[in-house]
Amino acid sequence: GGTPVRHSPLPYGHHAIEEEDIEAVVQVLRSDWITTGPKVREFEDAMADFVGAKYAVAFSSGTAALHGAAFAAGLGPGDEAVTTPMTFCATANCVVYQGARPVFADVTADTLNIDPEEVARRITPRTRAILPVDYAGHPADLEAILSLAERHGLVVIEDACHALGAEYREERVGHLSDMTVFSFHPVKHLTTAEGGMITTESAEFARKARLFRNHGIDQEARERQKEGRWFYEMVALGYNYRLSDIGCALGLSQLAKQERNLARRCEIAERYTQAFQALPGVTPPSVLPGVKHAWHLYPLRFDAGRLNMTRDKVFRALRAENLGVNVHYIPVHQHPYYRDRFGYRGGEYPVAEAAYRELITLPLFPGMLNSDVEDVIQATSKVVRHFADGGPRASS
Ligand SMILES: *Cc1c(COP(=O)(O)O)cnc(C)c1O
Repeated sequence: GGTPVRHSPLPYGHHAIEEEDIEAVVQVLRSDWITTGPKVREFEDAMADFVGAKYAVAFSSGTAALHGAAFAAGLGPGDEAVTTPMTFCATANCVVYQGARPVFADVTADTLNIDPEEVARRITPRTRAILPVDYAGHPADLEAILSLAERHGLVVIEDACHALGAEYREERVGHLSDMTVFSFHPVKHLTTAEGGMITTESAEFARKARLFRNHGIDQEARERQKEGRWFYEMVALGYNYRLSDIGCALGLSQLAKQERNLARRCEIAERYTQAFQALPGVTPPSVLPGVKHAWHLYPLRFDAGRLNMTRDKVFRALRAENLGVNVHYIPVHQHPYYRDRFGYRGGEYPVAEAAYRELITLPLFPGMLNSDVEDVIQATSKVVRHFADGGPRASS
């Protein structure tokens, strides 16, 4: 209560568009190709390079890229794929799109990433794939997941929509799993407005992904025109999931600044953790050894018992301080669609569900000023101390 720490609202995430990004887009608009032209391959090559993968295939969104990966992995009716409930619903939806069944496995309490022991318990003869998510930007336990996959002959599709630039044992995520998926939505590390990418070491997965994003047609229009050919064949049922040259030009320009922006994200997260470690009643996100966190999100855990307060009250108090806080995530199995279709009642994934009840995502994006960062710390500390001292008995 009282006067808010901040006078203007601060969102939880925000794109960083600069003059050169605008210039790159304008150049494409003045050129002969505004979609499926040279910028697509340029952006794909640059992304492959950035993550150290052989192949990269651009898609119209991260969700479309997940769908393409589910197709390339061969998921279909009768198959199962094991994934985490602590994610955006698109991770599980891509399995459903292919007529297969998503099977959730609970997360570990520290990183909130999928627990390999829980994955092992969920593997059946119908399991075909595992979809770990690098939650908030912290790589999943890839070694354990990849070795499980190898033992059971499963495809690993890593949802790295939070994790562009994250490292696992000194290696950038993007070439460690069979396929890795990124998103270029404006709140993510870099943006093409809407867009996504699959990176892979496999020529076969890349080929299937390319087919799938272009109606299932075996050759792209531009290739044909170059060769003066009119003939094409549709060999599978695909979609129009193409990313435009306009988007790819923006992505290329953004990717050139990714190192700088990532460093800024890390700097902000470090400052938060330093401040919140000293604040009773909250737990900062943990970072395991051997990992470089990409800090897409900063989910702070509020100890509801200790604060004698629900997350929702803390949330409202932070919003009243003009912090654009958010919650990541409502566990996927708790959404009405998943409850109705797959019969979940709640209680199946206690670690994810308990975390959900206590998580609040604080603002974190590279364009934040140091004064914004200090506002977040001050406002959060004010709210937490207020509740820790007994809370507002009278109102709110
Ligand atoms: C953003 C996101 C997606 C979907 O990406 P879009 O580009 O918005 O379609 C999928 N999974 C996770 C974990 C995400 O954060």
